[in-house]
Amino acid sequence: MANPIHTININNINNSTFFNKNHKIENLTPKEYAYGAKIKLTLEEELLVPPPPLPPEAFVDVIMERPSLNTANRDWALLDAAFVQKVLHIMEKLRARGYPMTLLEGYRSPERQDALAGQATLVTKAKGGQSKHQYGLAVDLAPVRNGKVVISEKDPWALEAYQALGEEAHAAGITWGGVWRFRDYGHIEKSGPLHKPQGR
Ligand SMILES: [Zn+2]
Repeated sequence: MANPIHTININNINNSTFFNKNHKIENLTPKEYAYGAKIKLTLEEELLVPPPPLPPEAFVDVIMERPSLNTANRDWALLDAAFVQKVLHIMEKLRARGYPMTLLEGYRSPERQDALAGQATLVTKAKGGQSKHQYGLAVDLAPVRNGKVVISEKDPWALEAYQALGEEAHAAGITWGGVWRFRDYGHIEKSGPLHKPQGR
């Protein structure tokens, strides 16, 4: 004989839901419904705020590996605002996939660009005026593991993170440097030709 505790009367459940006074769907007026839709739209359009900078300790290993990063600019405010929103959305997607990323380098002055292009250890081939970093339309990101920034693609987990960056950038219509002949795994930039300022 079945234990009565496990017997469920489906009719009673349906009735209790139907007569529940807190069940509001049928009570929404068109005005209330429109208000709800507006809230949803506002949330979807919400501007993301750049994360606070990581403590200097997080970059110690990375700077030993690539000393030029010691003077890299990581100020989000110097970058193109619309591009920043795309980058932050990509970073949110990556965080959800288990790859938290941080900004390694953002804006680059023409002088710094020239200096990097002239280095023995190749960081970039682009000279002053040729990189989107100088126009606030490119960033270099790197994954963060246990509070430390990891840049080496020889690290399997970091390579996974970079591949995920490539996927999310592609989905967002952003160009990823990982597919270039001179592979730049952490680099993403606004797609399309660079429009230089007039008179330069
Ligand atoms: Zn870059």
